[in-house]
Amino acid sequence: VKLIRFGAAGRERPGVELANGIRVDVSPVVTDFDEHFFAVPGIPALQHWIAEHAPTAAIIPSTERLGPPVARPSKIVCIGLNFRDHAAESGMPLPSEPVIFFKAATAIAGPADAVMIPKGASKVDWEVELAVVIGRRAKHVSRHAALDYVAGYLLHNDYSERSFQLERGGQWVKGKSADTFAPLGPWLVTADEIPQPQNLAMWLSVNGERLQDSNSANMIFDVATLVSYVSEFMTLLPGDVISTGTPAGVGMGMKPQPRYLKPGDLVELGIDGLGVQRQTLVAYTESQ
Ligand code: ZN
Repeated sequence: VKLIRFGAAGRERPGVELANGIRVDVSPVVTDFDEHFFAVPGIPALQHWIAEHAPTAAIIPSTERLGPPVARPSKIVCIGLNFRDHAAESGMPLPSEPVIFFKAATAIAGPADAVMIPKGASKVDWEVELAVVIGRRAKHVSRHAALDYVAGYLLHNDYSERSFQLERGGQWVKGKSADTFAPLGPWLVTADEIPQPQNLAMWLSVNGERLQDSNSANMIFDVATLVSYVSEFMTLLPGDVISTGTPAGVGMGMKPQPRYLKPGDLVELGIDGLGVQRQTLVAYTESQ
């Protein structure tokens, strides 16, 4: 099933997109797609409800804004340098163990929301990524069992301000956490619909020019390895997001000159089965 959240930013309600493309409101039976919902577990109960009640549920107009399909996770854990070609273009060695960094949960935005260039930023960059949503509390999970802890998958554009990330000292989190820097969605697709997470085409274009074009098969560490690995170091809660890294084709790696985003640029990206995102870059304004 495809989970969505719809309505004004910060006041989203839960819904689902049916196989026929129609979106229906599930707020009569689900409070939100949050830690509690995944822990219950809410997905099987919701699938049951859909089978019986979807035909008579309230239809969501196609003009409604879509928000991030998961409500404020306790954390977003990101994996760095998980594709050989991206490590090479970044001028960094292949990691012998997964590189982990955090992204602030306040960076989360809807899949078509404007992306605001942060105050003082000059090197805003894109990264198409497959993100995993955790379905059960996970601590010291084996690689063998790891996929049982995955509720589903979603599309993530892991935006970065490279000057904050790489020129200001300390941790990458500085360049990854600005408001709107984590568009998620349009859907959270439940794991039963993505039986092969390591064979998904992934792409990104800027102003219509295709710049990233790869497949999740090219990951150095696969989803099961990553869920297991992260759970060695922290407890993953239901609803938490792990973003599994980007392939080559980011602005920082462009030759002969890096290429960064400016107001008015249009970024479009997609992953097989997980839908498409479309963001317009806007200049910083204080009112946000
Ligand atoms: Zn990334």
